[in-house]
Amino acid sequence: MKLKLHWQIIIAMGAGLIIGLMSRSYGFDGFVSNQLSIVGDLFLRGLRMVMIPLIITSIISGVTSVGSKENLERMGIRTFIYYMSTSLLAIVTGLVLVNVIRPGVGAKLGLEAIPKGLTANGERFIDTLINIIPKNPFKAIVDGDMLSIIFFSLLLGFCITIVNRKYRDTLTNFFQGLFEVMMKITHIVLFFAPYGIFSLIAKLVAQTGTEAFGPLGAYMLTVASALLIHAFITLPILLIVVGKIRPQKHIKAMSTALLTAFSTSSSSATLPVTMESIEENAGVSNKVSSFVLPLGATINMDGTALYECVAVVFIAQVYGIDLSFAQQFVVVITALLASIGAAGIPMAGLVMMAVILNAVGLPLEAVGLILAVDRVLDMLRTTVNVWSDSCGAAIIASKEGEKLPIALKG
Ligand code: ASP
Repeated sequence: MKLKLHWQIIIAMGAGLIIGLMSRSYGFDGFVSNQLSIVGDLFLRGLRMVMIPLIITSIISGVTSVGSKENLERMGIRTFIYYMSTSLLAIVTGLVLVNVIRPGVGAKLGLEAIPKGLTANGERFIDTLINIIPKNPFKAIVDGDMLSIIFFSLLLGFCITIVNRKYRDTLTNFFQGLFEVMMKITHIVLFFAPYGIFSLIAKLVAQTGTEAFGPLGAYMLTVASALLIHAFITLPILLIVVGKIRPQKHIKAMSTALLTAFSTSSSSATLPVTMESIEENAGVSNKVSSFVLPLGATINMDGTALYECVAVVFIAQVYGIDLSFAQQFVVVITALLASIGAAGIPMAGLVMMAVILNAVGLPLEAVGLILAVDRVLDMLRTTVNVWSDSCGAAIIASKEGEKLPIALKG
């Protein structure tokens, strides 16, 4: 009997943890982080390789199959409302918990050195918006500018639907075919997931160990509890009430994608797996998933939004600063913008912290306080990011009238 992929991955994670811990006790951590890690790097490269062609072909084939302008508009509005409201709910959950637990009050923490390159990126939010329109779509592809790539693909897909029938059919078929091929490549890459994930976890444990977490325990606990509440209470309620979907079935359908998100800390790299799981297991149509998910991987980051908010308030608490109501409001808004602006790559959220610290007038060096545990929190928040995207796709599919095997009356 062949073990299901998600079980293979869970076993691989356990093995990675054990090997990582052993490597620290028996002194072969160098081997784990330098040689064994190659397997994980290869897996990540495989995912990244397919990522951009997949995003482009999936959006184009999605838009062409949605068809009419009205359908597209309706789905666009639903997607936007879902993304904004779940991110705000996540932020509020974080804000309430950090104000109740108060993990930073009286905490004695030394500042760590800030790693190079971690400074506020000077880009204003308005520039981010302007840059969505690529000067050169090919350069955007080469540079991996997700928002520009998404914008251009949406436009291309839309215009394919309004050209002469002859061209429309040819191009629709072409991009749908290419999309199928990308999914096949994803399938092949996924075959290596257990080995890749084993290696990624072993390397992480070998490099960081578990000692660093001590003094920041209360902070980690606050972020983790808020993430748990959002993932296991808020989003499931939305699934049941709005989408008429059974959360247990949906989480099971998405398990491979969630485990991949946890191990890679990258929503973008996980995207191929998220699409595969939602279509194959949750039964969501390609029409919906290819519209909702690529956008979600880039702009919908509930976990990141929540984390930004908790982290800033925690830092203020450590410095003994009481943030006023107005300042906390600024935190909520900037956390939302930061989560939209953060790329779906490891530690993107930490870089965006600079923007929020700036907005409420806290020193940039404060990022050093939370650095030691960021890697682990990144794994958790990325999982929540991907979980929220997948809930959005399922809810929108159900609203579009699709009959899903994960439905309450399924
Ligand atoms: N790593 C996260 C993601 O890819 C972004 C973040 O750092 O919060 O979803």
